[in-house]
Amino acid sequence: MTTYMLCSAQFKIPALQFKYNALEPYIDSTTMRIHHDLHHAAYAANLNKALEKYPELYKKDIVELITNIKELPADIQTAVRNNGGGFYNHSFFWTMLAPAGTANMTPELEKILVTNFGSIDSFKAEFEKAAVNRFGSGWAWLIKESSGKLRIISTPNQDNSLMSISEIKGKPVLTLDVWEHAYYLKYQNKRMAYVKAFWNVVNWTEVEKLIGK
Ligand code: MN
Repeated sequence: MTTYMLCSAQFKIPALQFKYNALEPYIDSTTMRIHHDLHHAAYAANLNKALEKYPELYKKDIVELITNIKELPADIQTAVRNNGGGFYNHSFFWTMLAPAGTANMTPELEKILVTNFGSIDSFKAEFEKAAVNRFGSGWAWLIKESSGKLRIISTPNQDNSLMSISEIKGKPVLTLDVWEHAYYLKYQNKRMAYVKAFWNVVNWTEVEKLIGK
């Protein structure tokens, strides 16, 4: 799942690890196809275009690139923040999804979430609130802070908690895209319905792996 880091001349989006229709009825096939093949691909194309003047940057790991945006040439900082962020966030988001019932929460993960949030219900409620209250476009995240504590945040646009410019920092361990393009075809203005449907297709196996690292 790290094919998008390092191994090609330019940044390329990773293939989905499941079929477009595998998340039905919670996330529909058409949305998945457009989201992956067009939206995500556009972030990659725009990132590659932004780096044309500085081809040595194609060799960087995407995480390294977006973490240290302030150290990049000034004329590409905004493009890398938006398109490098979009490239990374979507690459990560696809790994957070799995067909319903194939990557369930284990008792061990449940215990970790209960320790951090009091109960699974309160964990979900806090995450849903972060996702729904994000004004405009952005993302909801579960992150692991350097102290080891788990925390729920949201970020605007294509920002994330790896970026040095981010107000709150930490390692992403779960995310949900709440841009309208992620849900509008099926859910229209009902973002909360999309957020609640998401719980059916979370790849908890991956979440647990990331928390443990
Ligand atoms: Mn998106």
